[in-house]
Amino acid sequence: MGESLKCLFIFLILLVFVYPYADIEITEWYNNADAALSITFDDCDENQYLIAYPIMERYNVRGSFGVVISWVGKTIEQPENIFIKRMTWDEIRKLDDNEISSHSCNHKLLTEINEEDLFFEIQESKRIIEEETGKKCITMHYPYSKTNEDIEEILEESGYLCARTLESKINKGPDLYEISSYAIFDDTHPSLKELEDLLKVCKKERGWVVIMYHHIDENPENYTTGSYLPLCITPESFDAQMKLFSSEKLWIAPLGEIASYLKEKETCTIKVEKSLTKIKIVIESEYDIPLTLKIRVNWWKVKVEGSLNDGEYSGSFYLNVVPNKEVVIYRKLF
Ligand SMILES: [Zn+2]
Repeated sequence: MGESLKCLFIFLILLVFVYPYADIEITEWYNNADAALSITFDDCDENQYLIAYPIMERYNVRGSFGVVISWVGKTIEQPENIFIKRMTWDEIRKLDDNEISSHSCNHKLLTEINEEDLFFEIQESKRIIEEETGKKCITMHYPYSKTNEDIEEILEESGYLCARTLESKINKGPDLYEISSYAIFDDTHPSLKELEDLLKVCKKERGWVVIMYHHIDENPENYTTGSYLPLCITPESFDAQMKLFSSEKLWIAPLGEIASYLKEKETCTIKVEKSLTKIKIVIESEYDIPLTLKIRVNWWKVKVEGSLNDGEYSGSFYLNVVPNKEVVIYRKLF
């Protein structure tokens, strides 16, 4: 009798250690980054493709390019015989992994036009971008950064997930139709040091910072655009900024991707099935952006299969998981 009680006791103790306990939470940003950052461009200047894009590729940085439909492939004349060329659809398509956002059809102030025109600017631009690129267009860069509630409602019902304005603020639990951004005016506004400080604050707040670029050219003085700040930086400054951004522990991704992560985090369901030898996890979601899970188990050692960073782990670890795909955590004894 004494022996069987002892056995039962040992069995119960073993069960406590062997039966899986799994604590799972979705991290604030992908890959458990300290903060998120988006690089955005407006007005589809050809130099964005010819100069900015190769630099971004070198640093493995992807961004969101806001296209004005009626400007694609055109050349405009600035004062003093300076010409600005816009990207062609062929060049836009070559931006590969980057996001193509709508910057409207005709760059009109959306707050000042009638409803019929508003629907046209919002829906027709999206339709044409999707037809030309074969990819979904879910992001709007507001012309002149101006918006209101009516515009945001039309965006939502038209299938846009997010939209960018100006405001110069770090986004923290943001309204996805009023994502704030910081404009780059020239090589020193803001300076590299100011950007560095901004990233420090953003990391501390675990926020999302969005940068807005226009022109990139060796001669910023050619881009007067009626203001004393040309909205233009030199390739050297752009390179230095990409170097700075990519050296930090940031999640750098297009606007639509980060907005999808936030939306998915809010709406998904995590299904967990446990047995004595394995734990199966599935993130059920209508979005397809991988999420990062922080997982804590009571097993000494585990082996993971089906995630984007499979391997052997112990204690607490992070997994990047594609939604609607099963991840299995196997118990390992040694
Ligand atoms: Zn613009």
